[in-house]
Amino acid sequence: MDLSARYPNLHVSRHPLVAHKLALLRDRSTEPKKFRELVRELSWLLGYESMADLATQPITVETPLEPMPAEELAPKVGLIPVLRAGLGMVDAMLELMPSAEVWHIGLYRDERSLKPVEYYNKLPDAATVQICLILDPMLATGGSSAATVDILKHWGAARIKQVSLIAAPEGVATLSAAHPDVDIHVGAVDRALNERGYIVPGLGDAGDRQFGTFAGPSSEPGHAPGDETAEVVRRLQRNLVGEE
Ligand code: URA
Repeated sequence: MDLSARYPNLHVSRHPLVAHKLALLRDRSTEPKKFRELVRELSWLLGYESMADLATQPITVETPLEPMPAEELAPKVGLIPVLRAGLGMVDAMLELMPSAEVWHIGLYRDERSLKPVEYYNKLPDAATVQICLILDPMLATGGSSAATVDILKHWGAARIKQVSLIAAPEGVATLSAAHPDVDIHVGAVDRALNERGYIVPGLGDAGDRQFGTFAGPSSEPGHAPGDETAEVVRRLQRNLVGEE
């Protein structure tokens, strides 16, 4: 689904390697080990694309032959993985930017209301980085991301981007409405959220599929979070239609 015309802050990768790896990632027969490898590879590719507009500053390097003018990354970068599924995206990003700082903010999605609840936040008083990349494989309702952006803006982050492997239109709409200045970099935008708050066709639960935790009640195929969840999804979908 191409929503880029409606949301100028949305950047959907057109890279064939991203499309190829996403297909493998979505496949229900992909085991956790392979799934983790693919999350890492996709994070590397999307991270690379998401940083294409970062500023550089001039430096001088000494080659073995002579000094020459060169460039280094100007802003200090912070990585904010959304626990727990975002953890699988961190290593790839650190390969790209070894000096990035990793800050953890713990928000969980209440299974019934789908609202984000903060349970961990140890950010220092003032921002130590200029640009923050929020890492979450699935941009679903957008509630956790919008809440994380609120926290980071309050902290003093000058610029914030969201990097996700797959987004739902509802999540893009929610995050863009709350924070139109946040660039959203994704591998694909899927059809919709289902009544349980899962992205469809999606890939299922990105945390469970990375960490092999399929036994929990929230990830059982028949698990029904309740009417409230379905109502939240319907409200998000009405907002989406209202925007057209
Ligand atoms: N989180 C996931 O892991 N998968 C979804 O489809 C939505 C949220």
